[in-house]
Amino acid sequence: MADRERIYLSSPHMSGLEQQYITEAFDSNWVAPLGKNVDSFEEEIASYVGIAGAVALSSGTAAIHLALILLDISRDDIVFCSSLTFIASANPILYQSATPVFIDSEPDSWNMSPVALEQALTEYAAKGKKPKAVIIVNLYGQSADYDRLKAICDAYEVPIVEDAAESLGATYKQQMSGTLGKFGIFSFNGNKIITTSGGGMLVSEDLSLLEKARFYATQARDQAKHYQHSQLGYNYRLSNILAGIGRGQLQILNERIVQKRNIFDYYQNELSTIQSIQFMPETSFGKSTRWLTTAWIDPKQSSVSVSDIITHLETYNIESRPVWKPLHLQPLFQECAYYTHQEQDISATLFNQGICLPSDTNMSLQQQEFIVQQLKDIF
Ligand SMILES: *Cc1c(COP(=O)(O)O)cnc(C)c1O
Repeated sequence: MADRERIYLSSPHMSGLEQQYITEAFDSNWVAPLGKNVDSFEEEIASYVGIAGAVALSSGTAAIHLALILLDISRDDIVFCSSLTFIASANPILYQSATPVFIDSEPDSWNMSPVALEQALTEYAAKGKKPKAVIIVNLYGQSADYDRLKAICDAYEVPIVEDAAESLGATYKQQMSGTLGKFGIFSFNGNKIITTSGGGMLVSEDLSLLEKARFYATQARDQAKHYQHSQLGYNYRLSNILAGIGRGQLQILNERIVQKRNIFDYYQNELSTIQSIQFMPETSFGKSTRWLTTAWIDPKQSSVSVSDIITHLETYNIESRPVWKPLHLQPLFQECAYYTHQEQDISATLFNQGICLPSDTNMSLQQQEFIVQQLKDIF
């Protein structure tokens, strides 16, 4: 079936508005460095999520890295991080030679478990080894339970970095995802809900810290005509061309959220008769973008495995994937401590039984019908 057109999990979906900003940049020869698109994209993202400021960067990973630098994280510091996430959430901890400790998910949101966080923080504080930051990830378009997580972090005065790479446009109570921690980060990688082909954003209420982020992201150049540097810097800014793509993409973000949620609703309605498929729950405290439709297969109700489904869909050129492999199970992090949700390892269970279904807004209804038919056939 190789000639069947491939259906992706989530591929770039242009609005048609991007080109005008790119053309403007070309016409004015502001191809580089930085320029109007970068400034405007920063303002537009800050205004969309309702926060004081934003710094456009070359990736979401760079944004996390700079957040850790601004929190002064260095060798042997401890940083807590959600375990169920993409590796980019935690790699910057190693860039700073700090030590990650991983925290399990709770079943209700699939995001960081307040129970596991509290246990970890209590134990580490008792040892006099309080973490210097907690990286909380909002998975697959849904916010974590910030009020509970923040109360625990506040009690120990530990700042939060909110990894909202997958949750731009989601809400927590009345607030936008990415604005709940000391820093928030977004990604515009090709698979995210909006893309600049590659890019990221660091947001915060603290404008002076964001100024420092700009400084570190442009090779930490001191104020001098000659090139002078007193600190270690990075080449992390976003290009003015790519920021132009981002400006065009941001204008259709709300429409994409509606489409993503419709894709989710269609799967959920069509597959409601299959008892063993349990979709990722949406919590009452927020609205998910449903960036990816994810579900888990209850092994008590079906012998069909996630790998059976992935293999079957692949024969029709349909992309699907397991849920993120938790970081505490990654060979890179095998030495790291891990705190589970009570006695259960929720993130490992979600990894073993969870699947991400094609959630591409480029997908036609006929294509989605076809996927649903294939899923019904397997079960
Ligand atoms: C995509 C992603 C990132 C990294 O973003 P890049 O822009 O690809 O560097 C970080 N965290 C999570 C949870 C992500 O999904």
